[in-house]
Amino acid sequence: MPYEKFVDRHIGPRDHELKLMLNELGVNTMDELIAQTVPSDIRIGEMKLTPAMTERAYFKHIKELAAKNKVFNTYIGMGYYDTITPSVILRNVLENPAWYTSYTPYQAEISQGRLEALLNFQTMVAELTGMELANASLLDEGTAAAEAMIMLNNAKGRKKKQAVKFFVDEQVWPQTLDVLITRSEPLGIELVVGDFCEVTLDDTYFGVLVQYPNSDGVVLDYKEFTDKCHDVGVRVAVASDLMALTLLEAPGDWGADVVLGSSQRFGIPMGYGGPAAAFFATKEEFKRNMPGRIIGITKDAQGNQALRMALQTREQHIKRERATSNICTAQALLATMAGMYATYHGPEGIKLIANRIHTIASFLSNSLIEMGYCQANKTYFDTLRIVLPAHVKREDIEWFSVDLEMNFRYFDNGDVGISIDETTNLEDINWILEVFAKAANFQKPEVKDFPEIKAYTGQFKRTTEFMKQEVFNRYRSETEMARYIKRMERKDISLLNSMISLGSCTMKLNAATEMLPLSWIEFNGLHPFIPKNQALGYHEMIEELRRDLSEITGFADMSMQPNSGAAGEYAGLMVIREYHIRRGDKHRNIVLIPSSAHGTNPASGVMAGMKVVVTPCDENGNVDVEALREKAIEHKDDLAACMITYPSTHGVFEVEIREICNIIHQNGGQVYMDGANMNAQVGLTNPGFIGADVCHLNLHKTFAIPHGGGGPGVGPIGVAKHLVECLPSHPVINNGHVGIHAVSSAPWGSALVQTITYGYIKMLGADGLKKATEVAILNANYIAHHTKDTYGVLYKGAQGRVGHELILECRGVKATSGITESDIAKRLMDYGFHAPTLSFPVHGTLMIEPTESESKYELDRFIKTLNTIYAEIKEVENGEVDKEDNVLKNAPHTDLVISADEWNHSYPRSKAAFPLPWLKESKFWVPVGRVDDAYGDRNLVCTCDPIESYM
Ligand SMILES: *Cc1c(COP(=O)(O)O)cnc(C)c1O
Repeated sequence: MPYEKFVDRHIGPRDHELKLMLNELGVNTMDELIAQTVPSDIRIGEMKLTPAMTERAYFKHIKELAAKNKVFNTYIGMGYYDTITPSVILRNVLENPAWYTSYTPYQAEISQGRLEALLNFQTMVAELTGMELANASLLDEGTAAAEAMIMLNNAKGRKKKQAVKFFVDEQVWPQTLDVLITRSEPLGIELVVGDFCEVTLDDTYFGVLVQYPNSDGVVLDYKEFTDKCHDVGVRVAVASDLMALTLLEAPGDWGADVVLGSSQRFGIPMGYGGPAAAFFATKEEFKRNMPGRIIGITKDAQGNQALRMALQTREQHIKRERATSNICTAQALLATMAGMYATYHGPEGIKLIANRIHTIASFLSNSLIEMGYCQANKTYFDTLRIVLPAHVKREDIEWFSVDLEMNFRYFDNGDVGISIDETTNLEDINWILEVFAKAANFQKPEVKDFPEIKAYTGQFKRTTEFMKQEVFNRYRSETEMARYIKRMERKDISLLNSMISLGSCTMKLNAATEMLPLSWIEFNGLHPFIPKNQALGYHEMIEELRRDLSEITGFADMSMQPNSGAAGEYAGLMVIREYHIRRGDKHRNIVLIPSSAHGTNPASGVMAGMKVVVTPCDENGNVDVEALREKAIEHKDDLAACMITYPSTHGVFEVEIREICNIIHQNGGQVYMDGANMNAQVGLTNPGFIGADVCHLNLHKTFAIPHGGGGPGVGPIGVAKHLVECLPSHPVINNGHVGIHAVSSAPWGSALVQTITYGYIKMLGADGLKKATEVAILNANYIAHHTKDTYGVLYKGAQGRVGHELILECRGVKATSGITESDIAKRLMDYGFHAPTLSFPVHGTLMIEPTESESKYELDRFIKTLNTIYAEIKEVENGEVDKEDNVLKNAPHTDLVISADEWNHSYPRSKAAFPLPWLKESKFWVPVGRVDDAYGDRNLVCTCDPIESYM
């Protein structure tokens, strides 16, 4: 049967085309090309993986694993709640490749849809928290709390320079506290944990964190405390819950400086720990310190409103070693979904959901008190803390509840926690009461009618309105909502439109079969803190994935905890740091990073408390080995690590990589490999074999997890044997590792989307994975071959080959024609293409990574487009067309511009809009003209317009 093998669906070119392409490059076989590309001394033999499954066989297999997970009603709470994903959002966003395959909206003109969705998310967060400014998501609640701590530390001002203490109320989630411990220590922040009512704050503190409602579920008055903090110049961060905030006074209204938390319960399934979007809101005064991305409103070249990422220079990882955060990939797709949940339900809908939750909680509280239980929480939203009377055994509660397929939270002192969520219904109420009645030998009252939903009247009742903007008040019917989602979707370029050749980002196929299990409740409906025996399918999957990824990377073990590549870098460096400390080398704190490294590398180094020493590259773009040696020797007493990307960010397999590893090891350091370019290694070589000690993988690049418009990501780290004992542990659930404190809130990070990578590996097998790498390299060399005589290719390896990506030289034409790499990027939009990576790692260039999934047909289309644009540049250069009024400088051309009654350009409309024949068949109309970044940064607006302006 043709094409039964998944590899034939994953890889773009057909076998006969591969031959043609190889011949064009002047080689006869793939082996010949690879031999010219990858140094022979680092080549590995065959990987030991299970044989490739067909899509059908995998579907059956993953169904079987799903059946091993038990979906109980879970009332554990602790930051994770069951929720109802509206089907219109599930089908049109989560299951829709137009949304999940798009990239981070750096190219604003072809990203207006997801920018609008994220602006809605920011507006929703700002409204509910009562803050001025919100970002477009962080990784999870624990890391968001850490970002708040670090931001307040950096913003503490000169008067507070000596203040190093951060107070954390003991009533925050245990996982939040654990992440804070990890993140504070290397930065010299002294964490003080205690009761906020008892702490005496003075000049030695710069900030505090309290939780509202707190870990027990109690809503407390922090107003006075906040005032007291402010009196001594201490800033206040508040971890909170968006659902509770629909009923409770907004922290912004009582003076909070930062409000953060998880938006998971706004329609994002728990997914056994993630992914879900953390939110982060603050005051305008911190706009330049805020971590993560902010979407803002600006105007385009025609003066129309347009959206784009605001203050991009503020994005921390761009600041490299001066960074104050390393956030790059965040949780865009999940933020989009949470924002849509708010859009669909609107303020009155969410309030009703919240009131319903509270009504059930108070009904249960009363019922349990009648049975003789004590309920310890006086003012609460959704969570009860049940104190058991002497004659009730906690074991009985546990036994009866598991028997009836329910999970509660169990406190150390024997109390039982119950957190109600959106899904709890009349039947569930009866089951819960049944358990407690049985355990207390009490005749269970039969609850026949759902308790009447009453508006919350407790303390701290919210009196301010929220989400009055039109967008939150217009789309109530499914028809309207589906059309709104579609309208946004049509404004964006995703992998459904054309290849997205972003170098270093690996925009490959995210196969439908890999994605299907995300929608299954057996995977997405599990709370991360349930007993492991309810998640046996998950554990089989995670264990197997850890084994496979260890084999692929040549390492001893993996930690699945980090939720992005940069989070992996941080985790890896912290593991290295711990290793040195355990050996008594506490002082080792220098990390060498080549100048060509991705900005997250130095930013992660700084976050791990290391001193970044930048080393130069030579004129061929390779690491200058002699300079590196010099630096390594100079710092040999304090050398902690070197971070190296392989193949280099310049797209070249450096032949001296082994020597680089040796130099670092000889001088007492550990080698950290940035695995973002793993798509050029899998099956041909691996970090462990090359000599690295740690490596992170971007599962959202190499291993088929989609980019989701800027997240989710999964950045597991692989480590050599001597570092396994340092891998991150978890304070609530034993995840099998005993090293550093947690780097994420969930024990295995974003477990749900790890099923995608699992499917990718299982369906490709060792041969398929290797072939994917080979074709990725071939595709890049094919594009290099066809652009070398126009733009030219910047760096090549020892034998004239590029790796899996190439840098297109654009600086020459810029000098002669005034056309910039940015003009080329915008002109590509007129042809229906997303630009390659702009000005990274070399300013004034474009970096192209086609991946193995692109067919020869698509590569040819892209090459033809690039070279047609080159001819357009030549016309400018030759003076045939005007230097300012030309198709490049005016790109992109919107439908409004093209169809306007007035046309006073020196070139015809057809040349602007339909320069190549296939565009007549399928034209992507760019919704806005070239976006004015500076205007929006001068007039920062990061929330939707109030309702009036739409009328
Ligand atoms: C993408 C990338 C990273 C950062 O990964 P995130 O998941 O975005 O945090 C780091 N290094 C390189 C070379 C990358 O391409």
